[in-house]
Amino acid sequence: MTVTRDDAPAIEAGALREAVAAIFTAAGCDEAEGARIGRYLVEANLAGHDSHGVIRVPRYVHWLDTGAVHAGRSAKTVVDVGAVAVLDGDHGFGQTVGEQAIRLGVEKAREHGIAVVGLRNSGHLGRIGDWAELAAAEGLLSIHFVNTSGLGMLVAPFGGTERRMSTNPVSIGVPMPEGPPLVLDCATSVVAEGKVLVALNGGKPLPEGALIERDGQLTTDPAAIYGAIEGTQPHDQRTGSAAVRAMGEHKGSGISFMCEVLAGALTGGGCGKAGHKTLENNMLSILLDPARFGTEALMWPELKRYIAFVKSARAAPGHEKVLLPGEPEEAMRARRGADGIPLPRRVRSSLALTASSLGLAEVAAILKPAADA
Ligand code: NAD
Repeated sequence: MTVTRDDAPAIEAGALREAVAAIFTAAGCDEAEGARIGRYLVEANLAGHDSHGVIRVPRYVHWLDTGAVHAGRSAKTVVDVGAVAVLDGDHGFGQTVGEQAIRLGVEKAREHGIAVVGLRNSGHLGRIGDWAELAAAEGLLSIHFVNTSGLGMLVAPFGGTERRMSTNPVSIGVPMPEGPPLVLDCATSVVAEGKVLVALNGGKPLPEGALIERDGQLTTDPAAIYGAIEGTQPHDQRTGSAAVRAMGEHKGSGISFMCEVLAGALTGGGCGKAGHKTLENNMLSILLDPARFGTEALMWPELKRYIAFVKSARAAPGHEKVLLPGEPEEAMRARRGADGIPLPRRVRSSLALTASSLGLAEVAAILKPAADA
């Protein structure tokens, strides 16, 4: 299916941020938390990751209603010794406890040169590149491994056809002396689950070979993940028989498995369990202060030289030029910051419906697609 501008009317980022903040404030968060959730979700849309943007609002509100996530919680310290800490997110919003974990990591990395922070039992942590960007804004390099404790289990391990792992993202951020940071941020599956959700909602179709049926047949049909859907938006229903495939065959499958080890087993949050009913994200974050390596005078000129060398590679057919990790997001931010965020009608309708259900008629009117208004 091709999505046109008419199918996805644009909305200005600031208006969308305020609308999402109002929804979460009405749903039970205090104003600061509502605004924080609005900021991170809209930031994901601005970066072009619609899968981790406001499309999540109805699902987050549903989780809040059902007690799967709680407003106003902050992470509890489990371990805090030197450069190492383990925090328990206590099923608070990932946008709140995730930020708390990274801020603690920043403090520790400043003190020790390195910090390793495990965060377990967090609500959905959204776009993991946010956390690499937060560390980079403080001048720190960072590496993040993430898993879920089971509800996100959608990925077949290499050589298998059944769901055993989550889409387990990894993100690596590098602050640059000039300009935006380098940020690699990817699911270890062919597509993130949210991209299957986007496809189901009439957005960008899935690439060939994204999904595998139990009998080993490959498919691109998002319904193969969710099963038969009633209503406009599946919350946690993924009753289809297919699995998402791991990226890069055995290599991506191995990295995903190691996310279960580092983010799941090591933090105490646990590896994926079948039949788990709530979505917890666990994350292991390693933060490094480049100033403490004694190589700063060499590092930046060397990176500058190498980046120019990499970008000078002849473009392959179908590509305009070589891009660095984070560059597509940066370009999208500039475009959507200026032109607004295109949101499929179906997504806008489901957001408007969520706002109405919370008694926010004015917010619903802003969110409703024009033809329905
Ligand atoms: P993606 O495939 O769109 O991008 C992956 C990475 O590749 C990015 O760093 C991007 O800058 C880079 N990239 C993209 N196009 C490029 C190009 N042409 N040249 C060079 N580099 C390029 O991302 P994804 O794997 O679909 O993940 C989407 C989002 O989903 C991420 O933000 C991830 O953190 C998030 N996610 C979250 C969870 C969770 O449990 N919270 C789970 C899975 C994924």
